[in-house]
Amino acid sequence: MNTVTLKPSKEKSLLRRHPWVYANAIDRVDGKPAVGATVIVRAHDGRFLARAAYSPHSQIRARVWSFDENEPIDHAFFKRRVQRAVAHRRAMVRDTGAVRLIFGEADGLPGLIVDQYDAANDANAHSQLVCQFMAAGVEAWKEAIVAALIAATGCPDVYERSDVSIREKEGLEQTTGVLAGDPPADTLVTIENGVRYHVDVRNGHKTGFYIDQRDNRALVQAFAGERDVLNCFCYTGGFSLAALKGGAKRVVSIDSSGEALALAQQNVATNGFDAARATWLDADAFKTLRRLYDDGERFDLVVLDPPKFAPSREHVDRAARAYKDINLTGLKLLRPGGLLFTYSCSGAIDAELFQKIVAGAAADARVDARILKRLGAGVDHPLLTAFPEGEYLKGLLLQIA
Ligand code: SAH
Repeated sequence: MNTVTLKPSKEKSLLRRHPWVYANAIDRVDGKPAVGATVIVRAHDGRFLARAAYSPHSQIRARVWSFDENEPIDHAFFKRRVQRAVAHRRAMVRDTGAVRLIFGEADGLPGLIVDQYDAANDANAHSQLVCQFMAAGVEAWKEAIVAALIAATGCPDVYERSDVSIREKEGLEQTTGVLAGDPPADTLVTIENGVRYHVDVRNGHKTGFYIDQRDNRALVQAFAGERDVLNCFCYTGGFSLAALKGGAKRVVSIDSSGEALALAQQNVATNGFDAARATWLDADAFKTLRRLYDDGERFDLVVLDPPKFAPSREHVDRAARAYKDINLTGLKLLRPGGLLFTYSCSGAIDAELFQKIVAGAAADARVDARILKRLGAGVDHPLLTAFPEGEYLKGLLLQIA
């Protein structure tokens, strides 16, 4: 059996059930494990620690499958892990068309994302599974995982969106395509919080939709009634449609992607909302926020959900300035009593730093901003206590005095 032996005292994080083995913690590798092969991880004294997937090209040299010495890594293992994840989601997330079934480390399947979109088009339209394989281990077990997914969900159509740059760190090429069943429908429409959304599984961001913001879109829907709303970085109109559903007087949305905005406008029509209540600006958000402020526009509710400004630690300073910039203008655009929903999905910026950045923006805007609620991803994006790195989406609901 291929074995990875750690340097002295490097076993501590594994004993706390952290699922990653960094290259610099490894003393030696015995055998010739292939990319994605299962290795036994041992402490320096030879004690068994875990079975893990070997990834020779990555700094994260192995990702743990199991801490149980008696658990072999085989087809049955993947069947059990996938079934468990699907059963947990079914119990926790109901009455919604878009669900994250598998969220990597939190489901004991490091590097794997699986989302399910139930179609709301008509009675004949069916569900679509969309996967992202982001590590050598899950890549090596792809067939077993796809078979397990079909068995656990009864959904035969599985599409792959492994066009993510982190695959390169694993020595894997980016790839997309049908893994099983029929290709995804071009006109897939799913439903969330009573709103219909077109999902472009092939070309959309991530697997087509920002499922993680479901609960936050519900909050916006709840608070948008009779308000003037600004949704910045709107993508296909997730928060905008929620605000329209919630009875917003007017919704102004900004995004620099024309394709996303086209789908957003289609969403307005599909839901039968009055298009005159919605304005779509194909523009840079930084400049447009300032322009709206200079023009004297003011809003009762502002959403700032930008892309990941800090892809890694080196980018934190520049990202912090960008977050501060949009939050400063976002706060200044609010009328008294107005609400700001503000987010960061940069893993490298933790909740504490994000709150400091927003506090700095409020100070510069000379407003008293009160935190009504701390926000995060939905319950289908669980966070392992042993793996705080898994927390990427954090947000604040603020009200200015
Ligand atoms: N809130 C959305 C997801 C936002 S994703 C939802 O709930 O679905 C981030 C979006 O920011 C993307 O659609 C991207 O096109 C857009 N974007 C990135 N940089 C931008 C910029 N400088 N100005 C405007 N939009 C930008």
